[in-house]
Amino acid sequence: MAKIGFIGLGIMGSHMAANLIRAGHEITGYDVVPASVEKLLQAGGKPAPNITEAVSGAEVVITMLPDSPQVAEVVLGPSGVLEATTSGVLLIDMSSIAPETSLDVAAAGAQRGVRVLDAPVSGGEQGAIKASLSIMVGGATEDFAAAKPIFEDLGRTIVHVGGHGAGQTVKAANQLMVAGIISLVAEAIVLLEASGVDGERGLEVLAGGLAGNRILDLKSASMLARQFEPGFRIDLHHKDMGIALASARSAGVSLPVTGVVAQLVAAARAQGNGSLDHSALLKVVEQLSGR
Ligand code: NAD
Repeated sequence: MAKIGFIGLGIMGSHMAANLIRAGHEITGYDVVPASVEKLLQAGGKPAPNITEAVSGAEVVITMLPDSPQVAEVVLGPSGVLEATTSGVLLIDMSSIAPETSLDVAAAGAQRGVRVLDAPVSGGEQGAIKASLSIMVGGATEDFAAAKPIFEDLGRTIVHVGGHGAGQTVKAANQLMVAGIISLVAEAIVLLEASGVDGERGLEVLAGGLAGNRILDLKSASMLARQFEPGFRIDLHHKDMGIALASARSAGVSLPVTGVVAQLVAAARAQGNGSLDHSALLKVVEQLSGR
């Protein structure tokens, strides 16, 4: 069992930290929002008032933060993780961020003898609650092997996909697919309802055929009911679509469908729906048809 410093106790991090506590790890956690740190206490963890105290004496540090700027600040900034940890610590960043930032963090960690993995996840809040996440890991093989028992307390599908940053590239591919599939489910709902076909029955039969997918399984009921509580916020998916398009640009490839879907996500955000669940893409698709 490991002594773990956990930074970022939001929608995902709070459940992941709770699962690690249940598995017997000793968790000290920090978040800029004091109420989130309080919740960790209720889950059996130790609250810390700042990063330094969260990571002091830890063998492993896990970060689960919104985006690249927060990871850079928390890890590389003054009184950040690298200043406060000792050589030999394993830093696992599970946030979804730009691959370039993961490379910067890994390089800065190496200078201080801190081993770094990028290990973004997929599976949503339910996956975090049920410890059934998919975890895509970039970094050195021996560091992946060291982290594997911890990943097994958080997820079910755990794959070492390559060197530093590769986990983030796989996550970008995941996110472009998820947003694309949500958009198509939204288009199916609009078509069914506009044609006078019962949406629930229509989606039920679609879920059993070649069009079946996890979004239909997990989100069709809430989409049909127009319930858009997050879940996964449009703001965060907008960030991920930006990462996907920037990654495509640096890889020199064209992803036309991703480009269109990124604009639908941007529209949802521009319309003031950034804090709703990403299934609220349905609102944008409906508005295109004046519905
Ligand atoms: P969230 O906004 O709920 O949680 C992020 C937490 O980080 C918040 O509690 C915030 O207060 C904290 N934070 C921000 N800046 C900080 C700082 N400087 N120091 C300490 N704490 C700080 O987001 P989330 O939904 O938990 O997502 C976290 C990451 O996981 C994101 O990169 C997201 O894209 C990714 N992700 C989310 C989901 C999902 O379904 N929610 C699924 C897979 C991946």
